[in-house]
Order: sequence, then structure tokens, then C-alpha cells
Amino acid sequence: MRNNFKGMIQMNHHPIYEKLIGITSKQNVMVDEMLSNHTYTRLGGKADILVTPETYEEVQAIVKLANSERVAFTLLGNGSNLIVKDGGIRGIVMNLKKLSTIQTNSNTIVAGSGARIIDVSREALERRLGGLEFACGIPGSVGGALFMNAGAYGGEIKDVLVSTKVVDPEGNLLTLSVEELDMDYRTSNIPEKRYIVLEATFALQPAEYEKIKEVMDDLTFKRESKQPLEYPSCGSVFKRPPGYFAGKLIQDSELQGKQIGGAQVSLKHAGFIVNKDGATASEYIALIHHVQETVDEKFGVKLEREVKIIGEDV
Ligand SMILES: Cc1cc2nc3c(=O)[nH]c(=O)nc-3n(C[C@H](O)[C@H](O)[C@H](O)COP(=O)(O)OP(=O)(O)OC[C@H]3O[C@@H](n4cnc5c(N)ncnc54)[C@H](O)[C@@H]3O)c2cc1C
Repeated sequence: MRNNFKGMIQMNHHPIYEKLIGITSKQNVMVDEMLSNHTYTRLGGKADILVTPETYEEVQAIVKLANSERVAFTLLGNGSNLIVKDGGIRGIVMNLKKLSTIQTNSNTIVAGSGARIIDVSREALERRLGGLEFACGIPGSVGGALFMNAGAYGGEIKDVLVSTKVVDPEGNLLTLSVEELDMDYRTSNIPEKRYIVLEATFALQPAEYEKIKEVMDDLTFKRESKQPLEYPSCGSVFKRPPGYFAGKLIQDSELQGKQIGGAQVSLKHAGFIVNKDGATASEYIALIHHVQETVDEKFGVKLEREVKIIGEDV
């Protein structure tokens, strides 16, 4: 059983805080930080501590500290595939956005886990390397994209990933091949093994700039015309059920426009739930449940969430 800090005040005098600022610089350790500032849905209460390490060694040391002090530990990427509940997250939340270098060598790109996968696909374009066009509109980090084998328009991370450097739950640094991650449709073994992705190596193919750009422009147009990008959301809320499309089932259940508080089933794309008007996480989650129940009643299909829900109720 891990400790949490619930009920503790003055976190910046807490021994864990003192130890963290001994590992990384003080400016990388935030106390009582609102996670709504760090999620795409703009939902989520406070993290007791949000730490943004700058080196692999700092990540390893933080994992070892959380283990030795038995403190709850949560990893946050770009916050584009999760909903943090209104009560926030106890213990240490780690975000790797400062590990964001992108380096190209011949046909290979090595990207830090905190780099945005959109920026990696742009780098590939600039270097005239094809293969990552599908990722040009996925707003996650490299780490988050590996975690769930992100994909779009027929492409997915496992098609281009060669290997990754991770930290295991004991704080050891490992290099793994793509095969060792057991990637499949929107899954990998990263959650089960509790790996922390530090960097990823992608193998791409030389291609003409104009051809890559044409594909990226086409996919961007498709996204902008079909997705409600004008509102905060977590993208497609549900996985594609075998033999169906989640969006179509929701549309045919006449749920488009259904609103609970400030959360609404998008009028533009039924597979999205948008934070239209200052929703709380509990409103957003209630709407997810309502959609699941209604689709099950009408069509007997159980929609499985793609998006993760983490944290505590108020
Ligand atoms: C408008 C919109 C469009 C989207 N379109 C697509 C799409 O076309 N295809 C698609 O696949 N997804 C899509 N998504 C969902 C999302 O962008 C992807 O799932 C993305 O891979 C999530 O990455 P993230 O960094 O935001 O992860 P987060 O949401 O922050 O975290 C998701 C999970 O990944 C884990 N994680 C994060 N970083 C690491 C790491 N370094 N190591 C280990 N685990 C980590 C977290 O602990 C968490 O469990 C979309 C989202 C939005 C908002």
C-alpha cells in the first residue's frame, strides 16, 4: 500500500518535496498544481506534486524515491487521452515534457518521450522522410503515443517504431525492441509492465517533400472538417467496436448534442465529447456513462473507453 498525502498541508515543507528538489531543480517541482492546466479536456483537480524532470537520471531517481518512500506515482503525458477527476491526484505526478529533443540521423529519428508526436512528424517532413504522416494531427506526446500504439488513417506507431528506452518500475533503464512491446490496435504492454518511456527511435523512408506534405495536408483537412477541434476534448472517447463505428452508433442513438452540465456529445463528430462550457470532470464522466448505457440499450453494443480516467472524486 502506497502512502498518499491526503490531508497534508504545506507540501513545500514535506520531506518528499525536499527530496525532489534535491533530485531536480526547484522550478521543476510544483505543489498543488491544477491539472486542468495540463490536460486537453481542461479537466482535473490538483496534483499534490507535479514534477518535470530534465534528464533520464532524474527520472530514475524519482521512481526510486517514490518506491522507497512508498508514495503514489502517476505519469502524465500531454493529457490528450485521459480525464483527470475533479479531486485531482495524490502523491507525485510526473510529466516528461522537458525530455523533448528530436534528432535525425539518416533515415532514423530519435525523439524524447515528451516531444509532441505532431512535431516529430513535422521534423520527418523537413528531413524528407515518409512514414509518420498519419501522426501529423495526433496531439499526444511520444510516450503517450507508444503507450497506446496511437494511430490514424491506416497508420500506427508500431509500423515505424524500431526501439525505445524505458525505465522499469524499479528504476532501471532498459532498451526494448518494438516486438517486446506487444503492440496491437491501441494497446501495448507498457501499462501492464509499468514502463516509463524515455525516448523512441523511428525508422522512416526517404520520400519527396511535396508527396509527404500532400498527405499531411489532406489528413489535416479531414481532421479539421470532421473533428470539433475548436473545443477542448480527449479525441475519440471510445474504441472502435468490432464490426461497428462508435460514432455512428452514438449518432443513431440520437445522442449528438446531448449535454450534461458543460460537457456535450459533439454535434460535429459523435465520437467526441467536448468540454463546451466549463464542464467538470464528473459531468464529462457522467456523459460517457450515459452514452455507453444508451448505445447498449439500443444496439446491444458495449462501447469500451479508449480514454483513461484517473484521479479522485472531490
Ligand atoms: C483532438 C484529438 C484528436 C486525437 N486523435 C487521435 C488519433 O487520431 N489517433 C490516436 O491514436 N489518438 C488520438 N487522440 C488521443 C491522444 O492524442 C493519443 O492517445 C495520444 O497518444 C496520447 O498521448 P498523451 O501524451 O496525451 O498521453 P496522456 O493522455 O497524457 O496519457 C495517456 C496514458 O499514457 C501514459 N503515458 C504518457 N506518457 C507516458 C510515458 N512517457 N511513458 C509511459 N506511459 C506514458 C499515461 O500514464 C496515461 O496512462 C486524439 C486526442 C485528441 C484530443
